[in-house]
Amino acid sequence: MSSAVTLLTPRQVAVIGAGAAGLVAAREIRREGHDVVVFEKGEEVGGTWVYTAEVESDPLGLDPKRSVVHSSLYDSLRTNLPRECMGFRDYPFRKREGKERDSRRFPGHREVLMYLQDFSAHFGIGDLVRFQTEVVFAGLGEGGKWKVTSKSPHTDRVDELYDAVIVCNGHYVQPRLPHILGYFLSLSFIYAFRKIKDIVLLLFPGINAWPGKQMHSHNYRTPQPFQDQVVVLIGSSASAVDISRDIAIVAKEVHVAARSVENEKLGKMPGHENMWLHSMIDSVHEDGTVVFQDGNAVRADFIIHCTGYKYDFPFLDTNGEVTVDDNRVGPLYKHVFPPGLAPWLSFVGLPWKVLPFPMLELQSKWIARILSNRIELPLKEDMAEDIEAFYTSLDATGFPKRYTHNMGLLQDCVILQWDYNNWIADQCEFPSVEEWRKQMYMATSKNRVLRPESYRDEWEDDDLVLTAQQDFANYLI
Ligand code: FAD
Repeated sequence: MSSAVTLLTPRQVAVIGAGAAGLVAAREIRREGHDVVVFEKGEEVGGTWVYTAEVESDPLGLDPKRSVVHSSLYDSLRTNLPRECMGFRDYPFRKREGKERDSRRFPGHREVLMYLQDFSAHFGIGDLVRFQTEVVFAGLGEGGKWKVTSKSPHTDRVDELYDAVIVCNGHYVQPRLPHILGYFLSLSFIYAFRKIKDIVLLLFPGINAWPGKQMHSHNYRTPQPFQDQVVVLIGSSASAVDISRDIAIVAKEVHVAARSVENEKLGKMPGHENMWLHSMIDSVHEDGTVVFQDGNAVRADFIIHCTGYKYDFPFLDTNGEVTVDDNRVGPLYKHVFPPGLAPWLSFVGLPWKVLPFPMLELQSKWIARILSNRIELPLKEDMAEDIEAFYTSLDATGFPKRYTHNMGLLQDCVILQWDYNNWIADQCEFPSVEEWRKQMYMATSKNRVLRPESYRDEWEDDDLVLTAQQDFANYLI
């Protein structure tokens, strides 16, 4: 364990969530000599990597009163990144010996959970976590401090004051159903007057009379319910790619409806007898038919929406300083600090299409050092100007607002995440992202497109694995 920096004014810091982001944030905050409490509503560390067979009462995730299940993992999930490049920079995701360990390069989800448990134990983070303790309110309190209200099965609501709050609550929890986003009626309003089946009439023309079942991928766990069924999946994300293949093993037919597919790729999918790729759904009908925009039609039993997630901070009250607008959380300086509340409020882990763990580590280092005055943030006005310039550049490229935190975008042929990570690393006087890690990420992305069925077991970057392992020798864990 590394020794903490001695500070003149240690801060009292509340971290919300004990997933990968909260764990590494807690480590960095404590390393800087601050006092930290991690609030975790679940029973263990690991966040999204804590698999559960439990699903929500509303499979589409529209009912605001439903009891929310945090994890979106499915039983068969293996990582879509190789372990060498996925792990934290100074705590490599090495193969571990042991009966329950999964030594594959792209391991199953349980191995990632065990890695995070090892990380937590190694750095003694578990002692900082209050389990089964949900933050129900975080907002400005007396004397410029943050009031954090939490509840647990053992206590009534507890109010406490903190100097700073770091939000690490994850963003793969609340289903995003883009087909209904354009409607101005709030879902809770609709809910007051209609039943779930009626609400989905907003999704596609005809859905009100369509007799099949619908769900969001958040509630997909195993293929068994789809045995001998005809299933339509909407989306082309990593989840859609995995789930379609998982289901195809048992289903009668699987039809994937995706936006922006090249015409030559439409039709039967190579290597599969029962899987087809279509353009987006056009309409659905009373006899069970689903009609695609390319004119094809199938009679289907299920529609699974693999349409992503929306950011949600139900506990956070910032007096309007931070809003979520079409999945843009803002305004945030470098996706972390709202200028009006910096550095006392910060967010870890918002960017997507990234290598998550190394980025969480860098963001956390940056926040920790700012809180101990080792790094200075620009003036509020300068941060606001930087954010405006970023929004303007995003608009100019024609990307929608909801891509604000998408770091897979190319700008002048540069993938944003490396520049972003290196900028933060530079602020923290920490080494830039390793060349092998960048190359491995790119090689895997390419391989995933070329061999969606086998990229986790066949690769051509063994030279990079070797370089990574040599690099890991610098870390004695
Ligand atoms: P989470 O892991 O979601 O943790 C948030 C924590 O906050 C949870 O423990 C939750 O209980 C807690 N919490 C939330 N609200 C409150 C509250 N109000 N009070 C108290 N506690 C609260 N990443 C990879 O690197 N490789 C992969 O292969 C990969 N595959 C993925 C596959 C799927 C299906 C999904 C959904 C994600 C995948 N990811 C992958 C991304 C993954 O989400 C990140 O790697 C990372 O785990 C995110 O960590 P986090 O801490 O930000 O969020």
